[in-house]
Amino acid sequence: VLADLLEPFGDDCLRCTHDQNFVVRNVPASALDTLYLLLKRISPLYDQPPLLTNAVACAGTSTCQLGICLSRGALEATLETLSRSGIDLDALGNFRLHFSGCPNSCGQHGIAHLGFHGKVLRSATHSYPAYSVVAGAHLDGQEGSLLAVKVGDVPAKNVPSLTREFLMQYASRAAAFATYRAYLEAEGRSYLATLCDKFSSVPTYEADPSFYRDWGAESDFSLDGRGTGECASGLFDIVEIDLAKMRDLRQTLGGTSVVKPLPLFELAEVAARALLVTRGVEVDATTIFENFERVFIDAGLVSRRFTPLFCAIKVNPEAAVRYERDIIELTEAIDTLYASLDETLQFHTPEQVKEPQPHVTVDLHIDLRGVTCPMNFVKTKMALSRLEGGQVLEVLLDSGAPVENVPKSVAAEGHGVISQTTIDDHWAVVIRKAG
Ligand code: SF4
Repeated sequence: VLADLLEPFGDDCLRCTHDQNFVVRNVPASALDTLYLLLKRISPLYDQPPLLTNAVACAGTSTCQLGICLSRGALEATLETLSRSGIDLDALGNFRLHFSGCPNSCGQHGIAHLGFHGKVLRSATHSYPAYSVVAGAHLDGQEGSLLAVKVGDVPAKNVPSLTREFLMQYASRAAAFATYRAYLEAEGRSYLATLCDKFSSVPTYEADPSFYRDWGAESDFSLDGRGTGECASGLFDIVEIDLAKMRDLRQTLGGTSVVKPLPLFELAEVAARALLVTRGVEVDATTIFENFERVFIDAGLVSRRFTPLFCAIKVNPEAAVRYERDIIELTEAIDTLYASLDETLQFHTPEQVKEPQPHVTVDLHIDLRGVTCPMNFVKTKMALSRLEGGQVLEVLLDSGAPVENVPKSVAAEGHGVISQTTIDDHWAVVIRKAG
């Protein structure tokens, strides 16, 4: 519609801006009245306060495979809340509100007056979408530029309410300060931190499932399939939380003369789940150990000597007390594995090459050397579709992107990657079909 409208003015009359707006330019002054009325008709935000029209959100998980949260949904919900808030938004001028669906910052939260970037947090039973809150970017002036600084974390559900309360307070206090920066430094940042605390609590899933569903999503939040992109950086927070818990528990148990079975079971559970998210596996308390065996032990990343431990504690958590040494060694193996993780979410551990793989009978063999991404994955899926659940496929892949991507994508679809073996300049990947 916009292109049709501007066609009579010729070339060079429209530019895209870095804050997701358009600039109409090179239009004769005599056409401005008419153009204003036509633009107003096609854009519902055309005459709204700049805070609403200049707000920015990246694509988020609506189309971005690296993302954690539906940032566009969160922004829309926030703008709607602000529109109904009664705050004099015009008085806030060019206040910059920015949303990114993960820490990668395509929504430019680093240059926001108030910004958010998506992350995942976990209650006792479920993962839920959340945002880190950042504030205080300063882009010009004598004092130099500053990126926005993190103030706290809140569940995605509470982002609109937090934003409304913060802007309500700022609007009432702004006249007392020369700049937003001065307001933040004097009282705004500590007030925002108080709001982050106030809005941080999350009810149980049973009490309010809406906290476990992202803005604009049609189903509950899930990490299934995340972590398989080149840089799912929002996942590292949740990994670090689990690893910190694992280390705390290990230290606590190390200082206890009588070790109780249930804390040991909890230690095994948190160790087994900590890195699952890096393989695109949603953590479900009932399948932690099965998933761990599938994506780490079957793939040769962790030793098979932990299999008896898992077999025992899956049926009887109290059996953990007989495996105290194995559980401590499992936590150490997880620390080693995490230390070997690179920025593309690949592990590099000696276990991969040291441990002999059990003999498996290959039911189908395909040679995808010379086939590039993503067609090699498509052809692998087609080959798997010809097999029954439990049957085994061997795929030959080139080094580099093919062997980095295909096994991850296969594992994310629930199949077991039994082994990856390098042969001269290529790889043989053995996959057991799920089901
Ligand atoms: S910030 Fe994250 S979610 Fe948003 S587009 Fe960039 S990578 Fe995707």
